Amino acid sequence: MIGRRSVLVAAATAALVAGGFMVAPAKAGQDILIGGGSVTGVYYQVALNVCNLLNKYSGDKYNCVGRPALGSVFNIRAVKRTLLDFGVAQSDRNFEAFRGQGDWQGKPMEDLRSVFSMHPETVLLVTRADSGINSVPDLKSNTINIGNPGSGQRGNAEDVLRLYGIDKDNDIEPQGLQQQEASRALIDKKIDAFFYTVGNPSAAIEEPANSTDIKIIPINSAEIQSFVDERPYYVMTEIPAGTYKGVDENVETYAVTATVVTSASASEEMVYDLVKTVFENLEELRTTHAAFRVLEPKAMLKGLTAPFHPGAEKYYKERGWK
Ligand code: GLU
Repeated sequence: MIGRRSVLVAAATAALVAGGFMVAPAKAGQDILIGGGSVTGVYYQVALNVCNLLNKYSGDKYNCVGRPALGSVFNIRAVKRTLLDFGVAQSDRNFEAFRGQGDWQGKPMEDLRSVFSMHPETVLLVTRADSGINSVPDLKSNTINIGNPGSGQRGNAEDVLRLYGIDKDNDIEPQGLQQQEASRALIDKKIDAFFYTVGNPSAAIEEPANSTDIKIIPINSAEIQSFVDERPYYVMTEIPAGTYKGVDENVETYAVTATVVTSASASEEMVYDLVKTVFENLEELRTTHAAFRVLEPKAMLKGLTAPFHPGAEKYYKERGWK
């Protein structure tokens, strides 16, 4: 009887695991929590796949969990409060946090520490083909998702609107949905467009692209170009034609870099182990998401504002990269 029961339990467990309903049983090791973004974005993939590598290659030393979170601003704040060990965050938000600007006006986060950079992220403005929106000024009088509070894209949306002379509170109907809801809301015509700052390709744009006809609106006015020129963490770029279904021409916009950050209070050994695991298995990490194919050690040590955490610095020195 016992034998049969174990077989049944094993079969049920296998079914649950296969269905994605169960996480691997917790190991005895130290817990590490990495905060990402929306489930349909790329930050969550960073958190998940970095954790997968650490769990796979660190024996029982760590039990790393990558989880969805609210995005850059939330992650930087949560790292400060040690609610997260690591957070994924945009390079522009790091700059503001460390220097005491934007959401951190007058309150610089001096204990913010850099770990490494990841993939480039573009500032995207996505609408339905039938919305009548063909340029940023056409957003006026429409319902636009500017990003949930705590996200990195919310600041980018506010910058773009301001630089195009659009008053967020009077000229548009702003929404603060999380991205997984915003993608659905665009399909369901509950919103007319959304801003999202994300690595490409992102499921958050593939979803509307595959279920309705979409357009990606260029963000490239002279004001945007000088704004980008004046800031070290921005660069003008293009989303190549064919990245998303129905978008058959290159679309000009600007980009930031996704980064992994922590706090000065994080243990040197933990940060060292995570960094070493990532760089020793970079080939494998590159295969886990299309946005990670471009990852190269040289670029991953650039685009960061806060000083490197000593655990990261130790590894980079050993490799002769610093
Ligand atoms: N850049 C977005 C943010 O900071 C998140 C994008 C993603 O989840 O990939 O909030």
